[in-house]
This record gives sequence, structure tokens and C-alpha cells, in this order.
Amino acid sequence: MRVLRLERPDPTRLIEEKIKVAQELYDVWGEGLLEDEEIPPLLERYKKAVEASNEAMESAGTFRECYVCTVQDKKGCCKIGLENECTVLILLLNLLLGVKFPEEREVPGRCFFVGPLGCKIFARPMLCRDYFCVRHYEKVPEEEMRKVTRVLNEELTLLYQITRLLRHRLESWTGDFLMELDLTGYGV
Ligand code: SF4
Ligand code: SF4
Repeated sequence: MRVLRLERPDPTRLIEEKIKVAQELYDVWGEGLLEDEEIPPLLERYKKAVEASNEAMESAGTFRECYVCTVQDKKGCCKIGLENECTVLILLLNLLLGVKFPEEREVPGRCFFVGPLGCKIFARPMLCRDYFCVRHYEKVPEEEMRKVTRVLNEELTLLYQITRLLRHRLESWTGDFLMELDLTGYGV
């Protein structure tokens, strides 16, 4: 296992290094994880929970506000460095769900995972899903915001359960030596 924190302090290099580690884990252990008794049912529940969150955000109008903020107002908060909210475990989860990562940062100054159609990954870190700014609270009715938060709870709980289970499986199969699977990168 590489020592991510010391070797790769630059945000782009850090996420590239984390992707490499996640890919190596997937190549060696992906099949085993996908044949596990507990993991595939959780993945199915997670996919449905993400869809339910997306529907709730679409219907409340939070997606629209982010679109206007990002595309029309040229603001947006998916900035460079935020990709490192993705831990190795979240990246591994994306690989288990069939996500292909970009080879390089497509939009300078933006998150590594930003593409022309928005975010390119499926399993997103908690901060990306549960962050709502002043604009949302000004434009979206309070009851709608409460509904979104309630629906998101299932997705975020499953994200925690799955990544904890992945860590547990990997540690038990590899002899507990895996480190830094939960590193975000802000401490570098
Ligand atoms: S969360 Fe707020 S700042 Fe970020 S893109 Fe959406 S509207 Fe813009
Ligand atoms: S939502 Fe996606 S593109 Fe935006 S910061 Fe999070 S991972 Fe990056």
C-alpha cells in the first residue's frame, strides 16, 4: 500500500494515486467483493437510494439552482481539491458499480470529476450530496428542503454501511495492514 499522505500532497496527484489504489484493490478483490453475501444486496439498495435522492432533489428544484449557479452564473462549488472528499473506499465503490474514471482533470480549476454533463461519478461523498447553500434556502421552500434531507438519509446511511463493510472485508482478507482507505486529503 502506498503512503498517500506523504508522497502525493498535490490534489491532482493525490486523487490519481487514490484511483490507482482503488483500481488495484478492484483488480485483485473486486470479484470476491461482488460475490460476497452482503455486499451486492447493499449495492442494489444504494443504487435505488441514489435514484430516490436525485428524484427528490429534482422535484424540489435544488438541481436546477445548482445548474443556474454553475452554468449561467459561472460560479458553482465543485472546485479543484474537492475530488479528494472521495476516499479510496468511495472510489472502490464506484468501480464496483461500473463507473469509469476520467484519465485527467477535464475542466481546469474544477473538481477532477467534473465533466460537460456534471459529475462523472455515481457514488459521491457525503459533502457533495448533503451540502446546500444559502441560494437553496432562499429559493426552495423549507418543507421541500426538509423532504430532500429526509430522503438523502437512506443514501448516506448506505454509503457509510457499504464503505465500512468494504473496509472490514479487505482488512480481514489482507491481514489488517491496509491503511488510509478513508483519507480525504485536506490534512496534507
Ligand atoms: S450548492 Fe450552492 S454554490 Fe454549490 S453549485 Fe449549488 S447553488 Fe451553487
Ligand atoms: S459532486 Fe462530483 S464533481 Fe462535484 S465536487 Fe463532488 S465529486 Fe466533484
